[in-house]
Amino acid sequence: MTRAKLHSIERRTALKLAAALWLAARNRPVSASAPQRVVVIGGGIIGCAISYYLAKAGTQVTLVERDSLASKASRGTFAWINATWAKQPRHYHRFSQMGLNAWHELESELGIPIRWGGSLEWFSSHERQVKLGTDIEEQARWGEAAKMLTGAEVSVLEPNLTVSGANSFAYSGGDGALDPVTACQRLAAGAQRYHATVMEQCAVRSALPNDEGTVTVSTSQGDLIADRYVVATGADPVATKALAGVTIPQRSTPGVIVITKPLRRLIHRVIAAPGIHLHQRDDGKLVIGEQEGAPNNAAHSLRLRERPTRFPDNATALAHAQRMLAIATQFLPAAAAAEVDEVLIGWRPLPLDGHPVLGTPNASPASYLAIMHSGISLAPLVGQLVAQELLTQTPSPHLEHYRPDRHFSAVARY
Ligand SMILES: Cc1cc2nc3c(=O)[nH]c(=O)nc-3n(C[C@H](O)[C@H](O)[C@H](O)COP(=O)(O)OP(=O)(O)OC[C@H]3O[C@@H](n4cnc5c(N)ncnc54)[C@H](O)[C@@H]3O)c2cc1C
Repeated sequence: MTRAKLHSIERRTALKLAAALWLAARNRPVSASAPQRVVVIGGGIIGCAISYYLAKAGTQVTLVERDSLASKASRGTFAWINATWAKQPRHYHRFSQMGLNAWHELESELGIPIRWGGSLEWFSSHERQVKLGTDIEEQARWGEAAKMLTGAEVSVLEPNLTVSGANSFAYSGGDGALDPVTACQRLAAGAQRYHATVMEQCAVRSALPNDEGTVTVSTSQGDLIADRYVVATGADPVATKALAGVTIPQRSTPGVIVITKPLRRLIHRVIAAPGIHLHQRDDGKLVIGEQEGAPNNAAHSLRLRERPTRFPDNATALAHAQRMLAIATQFLPAAAAAEVDEVLIGWRPLPLDGHPVLGTPNASPASYLAIMHSGISLAPLVGQLVAQELLTQTPSPHLEHYRPDRHFSAVARY
């Protein structure tokens, strides 16, 4: 055997040994008592909400964010709080409805401005409209505040909206919308009032259990010792593997969000019109989101490979904004006067089956994963339930469908 071959076998053996040691370390059992110290990795709306409820319950929380709070999906999001017909099947719809209720509790507790008032939705194709009618009938059977409205009824609710081209509209009365950056900041500040530590510009590199039942979370600002850690890293494709030893299959997709400068009040509800979504925040800013994803061509594939959250230059960003404003103006003519404030690209954290991932994977007993789409709608509920599960060490029946070790089948959503 040549020396090079021997060297390569030794190297492979050493790598296998290192991997076995890493796995053994990751699998170390954790203490059965409630954790006193928890590190939450990721300062989006999910990490902020979990930190808030853990800290409120008396846990010593350290929230670690690689960039700044609300800098990824929780910034480039449409931020519609909803439990519409699209939330399927029944258990996920019920979960989303609980999410809305949890926001009602939280908004006054932390002074987070939310515009409630429901949503209006319709499609351009006849087939889609027929299906929408069936979906709303199902909602009514489920006891939800959803119904079909006529154009005349919509014109009373939203006088500035042009509603020609359709004769019926789905109205989901319980929905709302908010400013996600303010929500994250208020949650983090709330956690700090309960003595949580918030570390921004701080990347977590690894999290490994120690012999005595604690965990060392290594960050770019030094090591943290905790009893448990939460991985709330959103759409990051490698974080769950690197930090908890499991791959969560995600079909993360980008979306463009345009935010205008404040306007006089033009609309009161979330408008999901053909091709475009709109709502007007409490501060008067119009938020516009696209229904279609990025074009499927070589130039976009190349550019999107790095998952950018900003456009390459202002001119490109403005071109996207003007295109989306032009579509919005078809339904809301007064939007023509809008000036663009921000143009964002958000990457959806999207587990393959469209449902949240919540719980401790078998591969890593010290971790707790919290990765999901519709995180804006679900954040306070998830924050409460995750804190409760971690502190009581008792599985919540509300989370049984969303465990990380489930089989993920591909379901096209969002
Ligand atoms: C275009 C678009 C439209 C959407 N519309 C809606 C909607 O209308 N309603 C709704 O409910 N949901 C919507 N969503 C989904 C929702 O925005 C997300 O589910 C939610 O923001 C996810 O929050 P998060 O905290 O899990 O992730 P993020 O906000 O992405 O936060 C994760 C954080 O983890 C940090 N991080 C990653 N790795 C590390 C590390 N190693 N160390 C430290 N920090 C790390 C990242 O920097 C990031 O800040 C939309 C999303 C997009 C993109």
